[in-house]
Amino acid sequence: MFLSVHMHAKRKRNCRKQAAKAKQSVTIVVSDSKIPIYHKEMQKMTEKENCNNECGSCGEECASRTEAFDFSAKPNPLSSVGKVIGILSGKGGVGKSLVTSLLAVEMQKMGHQAAILDADITGPSIPKMFGLSGMAKANESGIIPVTTKTGIDIISINLLVEDQTTPVIWRGPAVADVVKQFWSDVIWTGVDYMFIDMPPGTGDVPLTVFQSLPVDGIVIVSSPQELVSMIVEKAVRMAEQMKIPILGIVENMSYVICPDCGKEIKVFGESKVRETAEKYGIEFLASIPMDPKITAICDAGEIEKENFGWLKKAAERIERL
Ligand code: ADP
Ligand code: MG
Repeated sequence: MFLSVHMHAKRKRNCRKQAAKAKQSVTIVVSDSKIPIYHKEMQKMTEKENCNNECGSCGEECASRTEAFDFSAKPNPLSSVGKVIGILSGKGGVGKSLVTSLLAVEMQKMGHQAAILDADITGPSIPKMFGLSGMAKANESGIIPVTTKTGIDIISINLLVEDQTTPVIWRGPAVADVVKQFWSDVIWTGVDYMFIDMPPGTGDVPLTVFQSLPVDGIVIVSSPQELVSMIVEKAVRMAEQMKIPILGIVENMSYVICPDCGKEIKVFGESKVRETAEKYGIEFLASIPMDPKITAICDAGEIEKENFGWLKKAAERIERL
């Protein structure tokens, strides 16, 4: 199955149409308008003889384009997914996967069917947090997600490769293609809330994901020592361009609780996250302490075992979507 995913991506990369699409997705990053700005050479390209004027479904670069290409990936015909929430962070290692997992756990506990689409193809960590090591199965209709102990459906590149230590060394467009396949080729049955663990940053892969998948809302994860203002501003602009609402911001590693006196110690000093959230009119959803217990349960694959409750408010916000 891994090979087929890989070859599919490769085959697509070799395809001219796909290459054109890849260029478009990068070009859109620098464009504020709905219609992408094309390179001069591309602008020179004239309309194809067989043009049917349906720009929304045409991947060709063309000077006469009247609307942007429709990047949306079609879901598997057997899938049923309610709300889709993308989890975004400025950089890696701030707890994005932790927050994605805890939100799914919280939602599942509230009686909903939760799912996680691990879009962090080059740094997948979701299966490990849930203690999953097997391979996802497939039938002629698609790939079946792996189910956790409490019933959360998960798909990740690490559930499609035999050796989880093999690095994925594909370029952005191939990575984005695999994420689209996770939406189109996986059979997501009866999912109420799907959480997407995005690759870190606001680069071309998250952008393609936001363009291709029907994301209903974004949750930003930040640690206090990050350059919060800049990261939030980028995320806000990206969300505006994509017309996706930001549901709120979660601060991770906010403080440490002294094991002797119980006092909160702010290791990274006074955080700017709350202030930044206010500045941009974004809801401050939660602050999660730095706790060795978290590292231990993540490493042991037992994220579903503890009842931390930090993300209850965040889950309730998502429930109101
Ligand atoms: P990201 O997805 O942003 O790269 P992760 O969620 O994978 O980050 O977290 C990185 C590592 O830090 C993981 O091993 C996780 O167990 C640990 N970690 C994250 N948040 C905390 C926390 N609040 N306290 C202790 N360890 C944490
Ligand atoms: Mg991660």
